[in-house]
Amino acid sequence: MKQLVVFSICVAAFGADADLILHHGKIVTVDSGFRIVEAISIKGGRITAVGTSANILGAERTSRTRVVDLGGKTVLPGLIDAHVHALEAGLSEFKSTLPALDSIAAIQNYIRTAARSTPKGEWIVVPRTLPPRLKEMRFPTRQDLDVAPDHPVAFDGSYVWGANTLALKISGITRDTRNPPGGEVVKGPDGEPNGILRNASQLLKGVTRSGSFSEDDKVAALREMLQLYAAAGLTAVGDRAVTPAEVAIFEKLKARGELPVRVVLTWRINAARPVEQVVSEIQASSWTTNQGDDWLRFGTFKVTLDGGQSVGTAYQRMPYGPFGRQLYGQTDPDARGTLFIEPEKLYRIMRAARDKGWQLTAHVQGGGAIDTLLDVFERLDREKPIAPSRSHVMHGSFMSEEALNRMQHMGVIVDVQPGWQHFDVPALQKVFGLENMRYFFPLRSYIDRGIIVAGGSDHMIGHNKNTAVNAFNPFFNMWASITRRTREGQVVYPQERITRQEALKMWSIWAAWLQFGEKTRGSLEPGKFADLVVIDRDYLTCAEDDIRRIEPVATMIDGKIVFGRI
Ligand SMILES: [Zn+2]
Repeated sequence: MKQLVVFSICVAAFGADADLILHHGKIVTVDSGFRIVEAISIKGGRITAVGTSANILGAERTSRTRVVDLGGKTVLPGLIDAHVHALEAGLSEFKSTLPALDSIAAIQNYIRTAARSTPKGEWIVVPRTLPPRLKEMRFPTRQDLDVAPDHPVAFDGSYVWGANTLALKISGITRDTRNPPGGEVVKGPDGEPNGILRNASQLLKGVTRSGSFSEDDKVAALREMLQLYAAAGLTAVGDRAVTPAEVAIFEKLKARGELPVRVVLTWRINAARPVEQVVSEIQASSWTTNQGDDWLRFGTFKVTLDGGQSVGTAYQRMPYGPFGRQLYGQTDPDARGTLFIEPEKLYRIMRAARDKGWQLTAHVQGGGAIDTLLDVFERLDREKPIAPSRSHVMHGSFMSEEALNRMQHMGVIVDVQPGWQHFDVPALQKVFGLENMRYFFPLRSYIDRGIIVAGGSDHMIGHNKNTAVNAFNPFFNMWASITRRTREGQVVYPQERITRQEALKMWSIWAAWLQFGEKTRGSLEPGKFADLVVIDRDYLTCAEDDIRRIEPVATMIDGKIVFGRI
């Protein structure tokens, strides 16, 4: 009787008669007390009780209950990646697989292979590759890409593109071509274009980026990608840049009842237009935060405020310096990157979105961009408290003590990509110096200030969870958050390391919080959705380096297995 009294505390008002009971496990609930229990019961897709195996089996089991002995296995809440680009990633390997492009030689091999199956004169586009991750740590030039001279070749480095000699020729790009606004046609020592186009890829004529995909292809590619997320242990993702046409693809998949995981959409508006036009599009749109249901809904309104640290266009507080020339093809050592939206315009856009009820964010990587966004958030905060909207800094790679304090003061939260710490710090530290890496993804500093930190990958290319750009294996990303170990093995600013418990919260309850989903998911508690992942080793006690090697055994959403088996 005494046990029953204890147990009744943990039961929601659903009564007995579970559909499913998992017992004899190590179930990490991630509730407010970070409780670990042995058993969980599920009915109608919801968790009805958690507790000891004896209690749950005793009170919740009937003749129709399916009972699964976990054999001591660890169970975590269904993991959430707050930042992916599912459709783009799904299409990237929908028709053919991509090789790992980790050196200029590998890029040249890719071009030579593509040339064999591509008719002469047609474009070859090297899929998005980030220069800091190349062995040579330099941006490929026209000469590097000239290994298939009968094909125009473009290298997709995100905000900065590379072009070979033929690509420049057919696009009419010469030593006399004027730089587009905010962009640069980079010249070599001889005054000729060296093939690097900084914020100027629009000068390339006739390049098709992703081949041609039918609407059905897109739906199928999205479905495949979301299934791979489920296989990685994810039960919800935030898709961080959708257009109206892309929203329709998600809706189509949902209408068929085929969404493999829950999705929260971020509407990224094109702000490179007159402010009146952007504002009236926001006002005319019927979308806003939390519109939709538990499978598909809108989360955030986003603009892109600066470029990328991987290509030397993030808007920094300090100059890129001499190494920027090698890594990014930067010609001006005093360059600080690009701010795409001037502050007054940003304020007017954000104010219009705020007035429509949106949660706000902006892509900001460089410190200068972070400071600009926080200036605007402060202006809005003075008009009406911003904290309830859960507005956030997206990436925020180059934080500062002052920016951290401003975020804490306003109740602004953050969406981070700690995997970049692992992949990009070796090159970035050569650009900016170790001292300027002090607040690069400062997870400990955020958490100690009570700033909610949502974990994400920024997955955009590739289907393999470990080799994709960016790796979306949540266990790799949690490992990166815990260890701060770079790909060269060093630990930069170990005082920013966090615990396993905190890393797990970043990929569960805190990511759910950013998505306004913490009442229904992100932890294993009675009344919440039965979204969980069973894993092959104990996340909390395995050797630290084994965390990145954890594999899901089964993933469950709404009490139904969506990957694996138990
Ligand atoms: Zn992104």
